[in-house]
Parts: sequence; structure tokens; C-alpha cells
Amino acid sequence: MTSSNPLSDLKPDQLIDGVREWVSCETPPHDEPRLRAMAELAAHQAQSAGLRAEVLPVGATRLPLVRIVAEAPTAEKAVLILAHYDTVHPVGTLERNRIRIEGDRMFGPGSYDMKAGAYLALHALAALYRESQPQRPVELLLVPDEETGSRLSRTTIEARARDAAVALVAEPARVGGHCVTSRKGTGFVNVVAHGRPSHAGVEHAKGRSAIREIVHQALALEAMTNYAEGVTFNVGKIEGGTNRNVIPERASLQADFRVVTPEQAERVLATVRALAPVIEGVRLEVEAALNRPPFERSPQVEALLQQAKRVARTTGFQLDEISLTGGGSDGNFTAALGVPTLDGLGAEGDGAHTLHEHILVSSLPQRLRFWHSLLRDLAWASP
Ligand SMILES: [Zn+2]
Repeated sequence: MTSSNPLSDLKPDQLIDGVREWVSCETPPHDEPRLRAMAELAAHQAQSAGLRAEVLPVGATRLPLVRIVAEAPTAEKAVLILAHYDTVHPVGTLERNRIRIEGDRMFGPGSYDMKAGAYLALHALAALYRESQPQRPVELLLVPDEETGSRLSRTTIEARARDAAVALVAEPARVGGHCVTSRKGTGFVNVVAHGRPSHAGVEHAKGRSAIREIVHQALALEAMTNYAEGVTFNVGKIEGGTNRNVIPERASLQADFRVVTPEQAERVLATVRALAPVIEGVRLEVEAALNRPPFERSPQVEALLQQAKRVARTTGFQLDEISLTGGGSDGNFTAALGVPTLDGLGAEGDGAHTLHEHILVSSLPQRLRFWHSLLRDLAWASP
């Protein structure tokens, strides 16, 4: 195990072994025993570096969130690091995407999104803390439910963000090692149509088709996509009816939407909540919400980016950014609270959420040095 070694002694092989150990813990959403095993491994590694680590239940569940703290002697605002240790992959994916190294690629489910990034952040923090106390506290949250929207962890993330000076998110780096400086907000819409059933042959005119209604609503939602403004709608699931000879009584749809600004989110939600049935005699139930607010590239984000770029240069690489990715992260929560946030600081690789998910082995030592220098710059230098 690598956790007893200072960073300077951490050999590339030990780094790979450390990431391998994390990836070999399968952590599908809502699987409490498996999530707990991973949470305890991470907490144990943090504690063996002298960091304070607690495993806390989130919401009304027993799903474990790991809170790791490098204490400071001052009451300065903290550097908050966000990572998640759940993956999208069901148990058994390890057999379909075995952990193996082929050339520069290390395969494994959840390696890129985002066990490697979480591991690097923790071990850079551990190495620094072994040497000295920071000038401002550093807090690392390892959340168990990011892949299902962080509904349970959101309260904790936002509470900790209120005490934070900056937030760093260890989500996967983008192609070329780019970090992420803004993300769209994400929301959902669920619509249920209640029609009137009848015999499709004998009493066709008496029926009110819930399927026909839901198709109208699906088209109305999809028509709200506006690429020029960055707004997209996707009806991703549709269900309804019972038999071909019955005018369907019930149908439903589930849609996802993405927006760039809070104003767009409000406009979209107002439009969606005002959806009315097209077919007379049909009743609609509409449920819609923004589950991740937009992460906008504020001047404070820009300043943090410039600082991270300087640090990256000192560790031998150029850090570039990509803006406005459609995918959300827990960085959306911190950025929306006005906390300067930099995202996509994890390992390089590709294939998130697929069976060819992998990281680039050569990126690990460089990224570890980068995390080490960035944290030193943000928390160990005098505030
Ligand atoms: Zn992720």
C-alpha cells in the first residue's frame, strides 16, 4: 500500500497499484455494502496520513459520504475538494472491462470517472499534510451518489461550500488534459397523461388516447431545443398503453434538459409547468425541476484558472480549459453559490460510462504533482 510513503517516494508503480485497488472496489449506485467498503478504504488511507476522516450517512439513508479534513490553525475559509466514488457500472463490470494495462492505457470500470482523480487528490493532500499543517483548512468530500444526481449529498456539499474560498473538482480531465471552467445546468421533466380508455373498434370516438397526448407533449418539449442558445431537451423514455385494441388510458414520458444560464432555467421551467393538454378530456401531471444549476465562468473562476495555469507550468505542462460542457457535476452546486470552482482536474483518459473506460498511466505522476503544487499554492502558502 502506498499510503505510508511520502509523495516524493511514491513510485509510478505504487501509484498504479493504489488506483488499481480503488478501481477493484466496485461501487454501483445505491449498493450500500460495496460503497461502504470503498468509503472505509479511503477513510483509512486518509487517517494513516494523520488527516481527520469521518464516514457520514447522507440524507435519510445509510449511504456513506467521506469527509476528510486537513486542519489549519486559523479560521480561514477552506479549500474544498469534491470527488465522487460511485460509478455508473453494475457489479460484474470488472469482468467485462478487466483492470489491465495496454500500452499507456489502464482499463477498469470507474477508473477515469473518477476513482483515479479522487485518489490523486487524496494522496496529494496526504503527502502535504504529513509535512506540515496548511494555512487554511482543506476539506475533501467523497460522495456516494454523484452518478444519480447527488440528490442526497447536495445538502452537505452546499453546506461545506459556504465555508469555502475555492472548490476544486477531481472529475476526469478532458482530452488533452483540459480542465472545465463552466458547465450547463441540468434538469428533468416527467409528464403523465391520463386519458379515457375505450374499445378501439366498437367505441373509438369515446376514447381519449393518453399516448397520442404524450406524443404531442414529447414533440413540444423537443421543440424547445435551441442549439444557438445552448438549450437542449431530450425525451429519453416514453411508456404507455396496455393493448393494441384499447384506447390507452395512461402514458408517460421522462425528459432531460440542459441550460446555460439561470434565466434560461427559469424560462424553461415556467414553460414546462404551463404545459396544457392538447386533447380535450385528457389530464396532465407535470413534474419538473432543475437538479444542477448552471456553473458559469465568472471572473473569479477565471482568476482561479490563471492561478492553476501558473502552477501547471511549474510542474511541466500547459493547462488549457474547455467551457460549457453539457455534463453536470458537483461543481455546479459550488459554482452556483459563487464559490470560484475549477473542474475536470482528475486523470486523463477516455470512455467514461463505457466498457472501454481507461486512464492514461503516464498522466498519473504529472497530475499528482499538479495537485500537490496546486494545493500547496492555495492552502499552504500564507492566505
Ligand atoms: Zn464523474
